[in-house]
Amino acid sequence: MTIYSKTFDFAPVGLQMHELISHLYPICRSITGDGVRKTLHILQQHIPLKTYEVPTGTQVFDWTIPREWNVRDAYVKNSQGEKVIDFQQHSLHLLNYSIPVKKKMSLTELKKHLFTIQDRPDSIPYRTSYYSDNWGFCLTHKQLEGLPEDEYEVYIDSNLEAGNLTYGEYYLPGETEEEILFTCHICHPSLCNDNLSGISLVTFLAKHLKSLDLRYSYRFLFIPGTIGSIAWLALNENRTSYIKHGLVVAGVGDEGKFNYKKSRRGDAQIDKTVIHVLQNSGEDYQINEFSPYGYDERQFCSPGFNLPVGSLTRTPFGQYPQYHTSADNLDFVKPDKLGGSLAKYLEIVDILEHNYTYISTNPKCEPQLGKRGLYGNFGGTQDKKTKELATLWVLNLADGKYSLLDTSDRSGLDFAVIRDAANALYQGGLLERTNN
Ligand code: ZN
Repeated sequence: MTIYSKTFDFAPVGLQMHELISHLYPICRSITGDGVRKTLHILQQHIPLKTYEVPTGTQVFDWTIPREWNVRDAYVKNSQGEKVIDFQQHSLHLLNYSIPVKKKMSLTELKKHLFTIQDRPDSIPYRTSYYSDNWGFCLTHKQLEGLPEDEYEVYIDSNLEAGNLTYGEYYLPGETEEEILFTCHICHPSLCNDNLSGISLVTFLAKHLKSLDLRYSYRFLFIPGTIGSIAWLALNENRTSYIKHGLVVAGVGDEGKFNYKKSRRGDAQIDKTVIHVLQNSGEDYQINEFSPYGYDERQFCSPGFNLPVGSLTRTPFGQYPQYHTSADNLDFVKPDKLGGSLAKYLEIVDILEHNYTYISTNPKCEPQLGKRGLYGNFGGTQDKKTKELATLWVLNLADGKYSLLDTSDRSGLDFAVIRDAANALYQGGLLERTNN
């Protein structure tokens, strides 16, 4: 089975990715708690990922694993006993990490704990308060404007106590211990593009790769944002030198063009590979330099690690009006865009898997290809010309400095054509692989 081909039909898998998102959408997730466990449990129906529990109070570099948060119910009732804000209707209604509350109060007092977005009056905002004790409700601005003076009953049935931070990891061993890392954040409640789309993509990527014979080992991480990647890095520091390439996966279901944010190194193989794929896609795209703001690349690319980890998204976080609101819903993420994003990730994997650097065993003048059956034996005329040219390019750049990807970029020939030419030359004993 092949990793990727332009002829694959990604429409059916796009629908399955969307279906998984629908399944996960109602769950109230946070950086800790049963919402994360429930989410990982659903993913285990697709891939054999392991879950890990890191106890509250564990020191992870400069951070400490916080108390675990769980919530059973939360609402605000008016004096008639009607629920005017109800967590059961939407997980975004509750300020994530709200402490337990049971109290009656006036509208003025209640308003100190209500969050809305004035210029998006139909959307519920997403708000959190992980590291300072607070409580609150999020609602549409329209809902807020409709609340009359009254005595309100606030009820939040939550726990904030010693427990664990939960994350999921699936390690897929390959021929070498060198790894490709794919990581996504799993801490957001009912929000689809940010980041159920990333969770779904990583799951289906792993599902696709797990039955193949692969050169690299693969690590798929499902971790809460920031504290999760810090915890993983602190607990797995000895594994990080194996990470040769990596991508932070987020925001891959909206209709925007692809955006690639380079690794801190800026010229890593992952950077060259993603840029190559986007440049040759025929689609509009944007390349962004690294900046220490964004998703978990902030941690993977911190100076003490400086790992070759970039981030491939569609519209970047914060640059679409639905971002971190209830409008980032099941309609906002499109099955064909999810499938199209998976296609890009597989194309990238396909190149990384085959991107060897070669040295010619016969570097002085051209070797005589004809007597080895490596010249003039190709199919149709146009095809033949391209394949001959690819063969010559591969041989000419086989000096141990150029990878096949460099050869594809420099010749303007398709990576697959270059790869096939190199394979034939390698089988024919004219090339040796380097360790790069
Ligand atoms: Zn977010």
